[in-house]
Amino acid sequence: PLVLGIESSCDETGVALVRGRELLVDAVASSMDEHARYGGIIPEVASRAHLEAMIPTIQRALGEADVDLSQIDAIAVTAGPGLVGPLTIGASAAKALSIGLNKPLYGVNHVIGHAAVDELVHGEFPERVMALVVSGGHSSLLLVDDIATDVTELGSTLDDAAGEAFDKVGRLLGLPYPGGPHVDRLAREGDPTAIRFPRGLTARKDQEKHAYDFSFSGLKTAVARWVEARVDSGLEVPLNDVAASFAEAVADVLTAKTIAACQRHGVETLVVGGGFSANSQLRDMAAKRCAEAGIDLRIPPIRYCTDNGAMIAALGSAVVRAGVAPSGLDIPVDSSMPLTTVTV
Ligand code: ATP
Ligand code: MG
Ligand code: FE
Repeated sequence: PLVLGIESSCDETGVALVRGRELLVDAVASSMDEHARYGGIIPEVASRAHLEAMIPTIQRALGEADVDLSQIDAIAVTAGPGLVGPLTIGASAAKALSIGLNKPLYGVNHVIGHAAVDELVHGEFPERVMALVVSGGHSSLLLVDDIATDVTELGSTLDDAAGEAFDKVGRLLGLPYPGGPHVDRLAREGDPTAIRFPRGLTARKDQEKHAYDFSFSGLKTAVARWVEARVDSGLEVPLNDVAASFAEAVADVLTAKTIAACQRHGVETLVVGGGFSANSQLRDMAAKRCAEAGIDLRIPPIRYCTDNGAMIAALGSAVVRAGVAPSGLDIPVDSSMPLTTVTV
């Protein structure tokens, strides 16, 4: 079956067509430039951008794939989590298509989509995979027994997401928005062992209760204090070393906990997705530690890690393949959709 996927949970309008595990086209329109002007995403601005971009992006995807609307067998759309206004634009477009074409509609989970997209790149998942989804809004560890029907959330961030922590550290180091890629660039020039920043949740009771959860806000505060102390003493701030030591702490926690979870659950394949998987320090450390642990590491190319339509079409296709019942036309959008809910 040919599945049309629509993504609009944040600042990218994404439309893609997937048949089985084959991607026919992936069209994305981003309103990031507009958000950079405000130093953050304003939901109203993002919603309006989705409204303007939605139909042109659908038309562009169909045109590039040389597919007629009548050939589509099912429609998948992000039902959550995400910003309510932006989600509503995508859901409304998907509902209209579903009614107009008389084809089934599937409301699917954005975060699980970040893992599902890897099937388009590296092929069918083995029986059990671990998925680490890291972005500006999420840092979640998912045990995937069946991407369409059986996903367990092992842990997630208790405060800031990894990308968000990078953006905040970028801001305090005086770097442009979004700071993540800039901190990454500086970190590559610095010494990751220069400063020993805290790893978070290392207390005994936290270790037990939050074995697979993450917490980055304490780390961010530690970086801020360290920088302040330097400035107060009239010393220069070694930006490269601060960035490298901070990035090392984030990559250390993410990889250590993820690999521990793989070992605990006997999982031999790790999928990393979400926009933060562009991070060099995470990539390097994950590659090294997975190799040591005998874990097969799968990271899709960056364009499939940031928000896109392919991830939603991929998950929609998996859901159709599994024979899951379509969602009703009255499906809601859910800004805090649970990470274990694959379809609504
Ligand atoms: P979501 O709704 O999935 O959370 P998002 O728009 O918040 O989406 P993405 O676009 O997937 O997130 O990822 C962007 C985040 O990743 C930003 O916080 C950005 O700073 C961060 N990021 C991107 N590249 C890098 C990098 N190389 N190093 C560190 N952080 C990065
Ligand atoms: Mg984004
Ligand atoms: Fe995302």
